[in-house]
Amino acid sequence: MAKRVTGPEIEKLIQLLAKVPGLGPRSARRAALHLVKKKDQLLGPLADAMGEAHRKVRICSCCGNVDTSDPCTVCTDVRRDHAVIIVVEDVSDLWALERAGAMNAAYHVLGGTLSPLDGVGPDDLNIRGLVDRVAKGGVRELIIAVNATVEGQTTAHYITDQLSGLEVKITRLAHGVPVGGELDYLDEGTLTAALRARTAI
Ligand SMILES: [Zn+2]
Repeated sequence: MAKRVTGPEIEKLIQLLAKVPGLGPRSARRAALHLVKKKDQLLGPLADAMGEAHRKVRICSCCGNVDTSDPCTVCTDVRRDHAVIIVVEDVSDLWALERAGAMNAAYHVLGGTLSPLDGVGPDDLNIRGLVDRVAKGGVRELIIAVNATVEGQTTAHYITDQLSGLEVKITRLAHGVPVGGELDYLDEGTLTAALRARTAI
């Protein structure tokens, strides 16, 4: 067994940091060392910020977003068009779409996709809440912005089925050539989807 070079507190810090996406054990050690060296400038403020976030973070009971208030900042934003709901798999997708800044809509976070092989069924996702939101009325369009994977498309079909009979326009993101993409590098599935979704110039 290797000899220990730090006390259990720093060892625990490394182990926890290693669980953060994007940080492996090596990066976690570097980050931990940096933090303990910058004890007052970084470690202290970070610990405070984490404690504060831990106390305040909650899941929005309306849309499933993660925020420090419920309903969340997006749901309570009066400048948004709440008649348009963009359905996403994860909060990271909501953030990505907001960075693009193309729409001024509300969101609904599913919390994943249907995946029978992994044991993820409709009740494991925030689908019931979405149907309830639409059933309440006032929703004009639902934009299903799930990933272009088999699970994503299965989920999109399931949601569409659940909403049949309700007065709402359901759209999905176009599949095709990425902006700046070269045709030669695209797979056949993407090229086929792009051809099918062609638009008039
Ligand atoms: Zn919300």
